[in-house]
Amino acid sequence: MKICKQCGRSLPDESFRAYKPRGKGIRHTKQGRNTICITCENLNANMAVLWKKQNKTEEEDAVLARAAEYYKKLVDTGLQPIGTYAKHVLGTAAPRRRASEQLLDVLDSSMQHLMDSEDKLLAEYNKLLQLTLTEEPDVYQNKLEKLMEQSMGPDNKVQPRYVDIFRKVAEKFDEYEDSYTW
Ligand SMILES: [Zn+2]
Repeated sequence: MKICKQCGRSLPDESFRAYKPRGKGIRHTKQGRNTICITCENLNANMAVLWKKQNKTEEEDAVLARAAEYYKKLVDTGLQPIGTYAKHVLGTAAPRRRASEQLLDVLDSSMQHLMDSEDKLLAEYNKLLQLTLTEEPDVYQNKLEKLMEQSMGPDNKVQPRYVDIFRKVAEKFDEYEDSYTW
């Protein structure tokens, strides 16, 4: 019999997963069994998966809340729950990430945002470039003007990366206006 250090139950040895020492460690550990029972181990693994899951349902949130209560209660009674989610709940999770890592995150997401909006504007220009012109020229000139405003830099000029495509679209619309019969 062996006592699970997480749930505190006294259980037969087979209720604890056997582990084999890795390689020939200097400590020459013998085959042993885990300190927590298989039931607890499975519970912890499931909680970790649930905790990391995106877009949890209400039910799943409720399960996590209940598990948090349970882990805290175990600690209160002198037991030692382990696992990723227990660590998180008990505030013993890994130390906070370094400031430089956090800065990298901020930079990455800012860069992504920049690239996304850049792509969006270029896509808009391309759309105008492909457009079959049938309506009055003003309609298109207005569209281009709006897009131009969005692609201006702090100096109130079209940013360099949009200049080429802006000129092409402007040329196309001007030609259309010139040849349009009112
Ligand atoms: Zn247990």
